Amino acid sequence: MHSTHSDGTVSPAGLVEQAAVLDLAAIAVTDHDTCTAIPEAREAGERLGVRVLAGLEISTELAGRTAHMLAYCFDRGFDLLRSELQQILDGREARNRKIVARLNELGCPITYEEVAAKAGGTVIGRPHFAAAMLEKGFVVSRQEAFDKYLGASGLAYFDRTRFTIEDAIALVRKAGGVAVLAHPKLIRLPEGQSLGDVLGPLVDAGLGGIECHYSLHSHSETRDFLELARRHNLLVTGGSDYHGANKPEIAMGRGLGELRVPVSCADALEAAAYG
Ligand code: AMP
Ligand code: ZN
Repeated sequence: MHSTHSDGTVSPAGLVEQAAVLDLAAIAVTDHDTCTAIPEAREAGERLGVRVLAGLEISTELAGRTAHMLAYCFDRGFDLLRSELQQILDGREARNRKIVARLNELGCPITYEEVAAKAGGTVIGRPHFAAAMLEKGFVVSRQEAFDKYLGASGLAYFDRTRFTIEDAIALVRKAGGVAVLAHPKLIRLPEGQSLGDVLGPLVDAGLGGIECHYSLHSHSETRDFLELARRHNLLVTGGSDYHGANKPEIAMGRGLGELRVPVSCADALEAAAYG
């Protein structure tokens, strides 16, 4: 799940408080490109009796497209990861300033400070632009902001610095963590290629798991991902991808409604990372 340290709307401690009310056995806070939420979430977890796994979601490049990589249980390499991620955060800030300048050219009188105020935390992302544009009345919905301006074919779209997926896997391994391919259904591979075609080299590079349990996966897709994980001897993980009010249709723990992530996923991740 995502906290206010990236594009979620709930603080790290607030996430743990909600998880305690829902009686979740374990959670992972996996902010985009930053792990700064972990200490606060851990502290709340100890106070409220919720198991909190260290997590992170890194945007990477796979075959010229974006693929999200989850990192788990990197406690031993926390400081290493945090310093290596700084170059990604710097690239994000440069990208964000280009978006502001282009939106200004297009007649949207938005300032960097207004967008930053929507973020509140360390990582400013396109959802914060969408929120600020909506508040200004420049668009009538967040979706319009993405369709016309912020999305990959939008008028104010700029790419940002990313790790290759192999570099991200190597970094997570160096930090003592487990690298997991996030929501594989959302990876857009080149025409004619399937996940099975690209998985071998990623496993060779040190990939540790696949996020098989995810709300947008149908039953048959989940089965296919579980089979791929089995064939490549990878761990199975799952997550709701909870973002608070930024994705109001997603409930903590339950995702779009029917999601169930077995606690064995958390056990397996910890066993793999800590031995
Ligand atoms: P960023 O990391 O700043 O590039 O923003 C990425 C986030 O923007 C994603 O996690 C999505 O929440 C959101 N996003 C990206 N593209 C779209 C889109 N076409 N429609 C709606 N949301 C999008
Ligand atoms: Zn993601």
